[in-house]
Amino acid sequence: MARGKPDTIVFTDGTLITPTLRVEGDLVVEGGRVREIRPSAAPTSPGDRLVDCRGLYVGPGLVDIHVHGGQGHDFVTDAPQEIIDGCEYHLSVGTTAIAPSALSVPIEQLRASIEATRHAAPDCRSHILGYHVEGMYLDQEYRGGHLEEYVRDPDPEEYLPLIANHGDFITEWTLAPELPGALDLIRACRNAGITTSAGHSQATYEQMMAAIDAGLRHATHLYCVMGGLRFEALRESPGKGYAPGVVETVLMHQALTAEVICDGFHLHPALIRFALQCKGPHRLALISDAMKGVGLPDGEYLIGGQDCLVEGGIAIIADRPEVIASSVTPLIGMLRFAHETVGLRLEDAWMMATLTPARIIGVDDRIGSLDPGKDADILLLDEDLKLQEVYAKGQRVAMYR
Ligand SMILES: [Zn+2]
Ligand SMILES: [Zn+2]
Repeated sequence: MARGKPDTIVFTDGTLITPTLRVEGDLVVEGGRVREIRPSAAPTSPGDRLVDCRGLYVGPGLVDIHVHGGQGHDFVTDAPQEIIDGCEYHLSVGTTAIAPSALSVPIEQLRASIEATRHAAPDCRSHILGYHVEGMYLDQEYRGGHLEEYVRDPDPEEYLPLIANHGDFITEWTLAPELPGALDLIRACRNAGITTSAGHSQATYEQMMAAIDAGLRHATHLYCVMGGLRFEALRESPGKGYAPGVVETVLMHQALTAEVICDGFHLHPALIRFALQCKGPHRLALISDAMKGVGLPDGEYLIGGQDCLVEGGIAIIADRPEVIASSVTPLIGMLRFAHETVGLRLEDAWMMATLTPARIIGVDDRIGSLDPGKDADILLLDEDLKLQEVYAKGQRVAMYR
């Protein structure tokens, strides 16, 4: 029996953000993948589905590599449905690829969450890229929203079996490089193809350089709960005085990529512009770091064993009000803020929320841009960057116009 022609969708007359380029034209999708970009008004074939994109931006679906939950669903869970439901919320607001992330939790809970996410992945309409382990090997003093009792030094008896069983599914591991045993963990991750990231850390320049030598490649929520410039009066070598901390080392060292929370609460816009100046849009990603309260009204939420209060777009830990507890803004909100308020070029902001995070965890060969052959994850945004339509794996999954 002859196979029918695969479904073809032509997004016509839009402004395409690829995101490396901005071009006026048509985007052709066939069989769930991008086929080509061509001039508008090219002849279409009978049976092609046409989507009128006049006055709209057309670009790749967003890729969130650091996100803890959504619309009441927590990504620390042993229930695959909880993962699917949280990812569905993010999908509805334009995040077509996602790496559910854990806070510091007991190892059994972490293992159960990774397994639940693995089970959820084939049934999810968005791409589940794997699991991001944020914790438990963090600096106690810089633990931020993580619970004290779960934060500890790296223990190979604990992490080696986890990496042996699930290393292929762990996208990223956030750790503090200054902890005893951290370099062994970085090497174990590197050997398993896991991106290691410095976060919740007050490492010295020398400790950061040793970590980079061992394979450290990324920095988690740059600037936030991260040690900066250090006055080391008693340094012996190479001299006394001020020395770079984690922040400066990340900004200056091109071996490291980084990510920022761009919600208008965590970071002054000037800090984001400065990071972009240092790293460029191909080395600096936007992440949501959103927790389960995103997509829900203000209120109280239990996160990582702690009560959090959400009020007016910001989440804080109830009994430590000076600590911001991740965000309640989805990635599309970060993209909008980066362009409209921080003043980044739209192409740069879009790249930082798509191709760059995909590259950071090594999935840019199949998602993150409108290059031919990539999965057809596509957003249509109006001129105010409001979502109009969302496509994932070539299927329309949300429509707002
Ligand atoms: Zn964190
Ligand atoms: Zn986080």
